[in-house]
Amino acid sequence: MRYGDKGKHIRELQVALQRAGYELPTFGADGHLGDETWEALQDFALDHNFIWAPEIGDSLVSAMVSQMQESPEAADNLLRIPSYDLQEEPVPSTVSRKFRMRGGKVVRRAVSAVDGITIHQTGVQFGVNERQIEAAGGDERLALAKRVKKVAAHSVSFDGFYTKSYPLDFYIYHAGLLNRKTLGLEVDGLYSGLMDDPDTEVREDLASLWRGSPTELTEGRVKAAKAALRYLVDEGRKLGMPIKYIYAHRQSSATRRSDPGEEIWRKVVLEYGVPVLGLETRPAFTIGTGRPIPDEWDPDGQAPY
Ligand SMILES: [Zn+2]
Repeated sequence: MRYGDKGKHIRELQVALQRAGYELPTFGADGHLGDETWEALQDFALDHNFIWAPEIGDSLVSAMVSQMQESPEAADNLLRIPSYDLQEEPVPSTVSRKFRMRGGKVVRRAVSAVDGITIHQTGVQFGVNERQIEAAGGDERLALAKRVKKVAAHSVSFDGFYTKSYPLDFYIYHAGLLNRKTLGLEVDGLYSGLMDDPDTEVREDLASLWRGSPTELTEGRVKAAKAALRYLVDEGRKLGMPIKYIYAHRQSSATRRSDPGEEIWRKVVLEYGVPVLGLETRPAFTIGTGRPIPDEWDPDGQAPY
């Protein structure tokens, strides 16, 4: 492999680099080994004690690609984002109405029916009290993870960690008519619909939840949301789900216009879900009372906010 090479193998390499945390902000995974990819490769080599040479040895490439692509766990370690797996814990009886139930049990969906992810903001920043932290053995993150077992989502991301809340074939009511065919990812926090207008939601759907200032979408929150998204995509596909699309809750609900909001859409979906995980957005798609992805969120937007 040389500087200037083009093709699918370069694209795979670029995807692996991005998964390993080596960003390609200008050109992304464009299938061309230009300056940006070259420098990222050099960084990877130096960080992993490979000798850097102008011709990139097959050993480096294969080590990297196999590590990143065949082992999501290894990629997880590289992002160093921990998760809390609560899938085996029972569904709290108080939230059973958030699931499709039959005979007292949550309905398991046919994996072939699930072809996408719906991304949300929780609209509230969850907190835990002393008693809840104590009940979690003093682990505040675990306490938060347990707390959001009542949130209707397959995964919830926080600052620096995320949950594996429910088995991915659980039929959860999280996004109206998108429930049947998508996995639900909730990003903890209250975020404005538009980045440059923090008051957007005071006038809009989250008005009842809006208390003072919004949550800051820190780097730790972005990384955890990316890691959670990757978990849903990788695990879902492993189960046989043909996961291809990513939707905003806005696309299925008139009252969720700001869900998940511009910043999450840009940083988690457009900068990661699409280029790295290979997901497709469907900006014009709506179902039920939903609205298209807006111009302000996305260069391919289909409507004003
Ligand atoms: Zn939502």
